[in-house]
Amino acid sequence: MRKINTRRFQRATRDTPREVNRRILLNLVREHQPISRADLARRLAMSRGMVSALVSDLISAGLIYEGGTGQASRGRKPKLLHIRGHDRLVLGVDIRRRQTHLLLTDFGGSEIAVEMFRTPAALEALLDELAGRALRLIEAHADLGECHGIGLVVPGMVDVSAGEVLNAPTLGWRHVRVREMLTDRVPVPVHVERDAVACALAKIWLGRRGEHRDNFAYVTVSDGVGAGLVVNGQVLRGRGHAAGEFGHVPLNLDGPLCSCGNRGCWEAYTSNHATVTRYLGREPSDRGHRSEREVSVEDVVDRAASGDPAAMAALRETGRYLGIGIAGIVNALSPDEIIVGGEVAEAWDLVGPSLQGELGARALTELSATTPVTPEPSDRDTRLRGAIMLVVGPAFAAPVIA
Ligand SMILES: [Zn+2]
Repeated sequence: MRKINTRRFQRATRDTPREVNRRILLNLVREHQPISRADLARRLAMSRGMVSALVSDLISAGLIYEGGTGQASRGRKPKLLHIRGHDRLVLGVDIRRRQTHLLLTDFGGSEIAVEMFRTPAALEALLDELAGRALRLIEAHADLGECHGIGLVVPGMVDVSAGEVLNAPTLGWRHVRVREMLTDRVPVPVHVERDAVACALAKIWLGRRGEHRDNFAYVTVSDGVGAGLVVNGQVLRGRGHAAGEFGHVPLNLDGPLCSCGNRGCWEAYTSNHATVTRYLGREPSDRGHRSEREVSVEDVVDRAASGDPAAMAALRETGRYLGIGIAGIVNALSPDEIIVGGEVAEAWDLVGPSLQGELGARALTELSATTPVTPEPSDRDTRLRGAIMLVVGPAFAAPVIA
């Protein structure tokens, strides 16, 4: 039950029912393409005539098109409908402390080009390099279509409407108006989002056919640790744009120093740096980067897979700490599912059991204790797919009324 805000509302107009049905139809085409008008009429429980009218609207708006013909038991073969995606391009960008990845796709998410470069430490140098690559990619594929936007994913808190990164501890950014800085260099719309939220958006929009997620948390375990929270199908942002920053909930007031400047945060026990440090047998309080230059978290995962006992123990321990924090999320929000993305998810045979053990011991009801925790080993792809959805998603989102 949602109360109507009588000071800020979107009232219905004469066109509202048609607009709502158009969006539902557009999403049905997206999910079931190629699809016939007859199939749409069946799914919408609507007459063929009404469906044809909505389809005409969407074709003339350039959102769908008629492709090849389908099968029919008798009579004329139906023309099948598709989302018009092939001639609209989108660039997804994932900025992380060490590497920045770019993915050019069409509106349907088909991959056109990928690139990667080492993230320069200086902000201006990073944006110059990124803009140069973005312009080259867009120009090199201009024959395929126009670029409709850049989705930019960063490991930090973002004021989405201002396009401003408020605080990205692992990058050392505070109050960086990155959207403005990038659109000055590349003249296309830029959408900026926190990494965990972008991953959550990817899971909302890009699940398998028929899969629907409304209440879940996507936990990113990377240089930093955070969560994208989805409640009733909507991303939770909060007044300070920091909802989901569970990585900075303290587990121990005297614990190791965290990237945020405080001590004993969940992140300080579970980040990739913490796992590597643990593997090297050092105290997690050692924030020096020497160890990371010698050994990466991927190395720890590889060594564990080949039976290195120290690597296996380090990952089990990371799983334990992940479980402690995830139990906190489960007790606070009671989500339907927790998804864990990041390199450590590739060692789920080690991380998973110790994580589940802590969750089972700390969850407050029997049902909470059985909350599914799903590993997402292809986290890098999810981050980029989320970046793409920042541009594509709004075209398919439910209209806001009342
Ligand atoms: Zn912290």
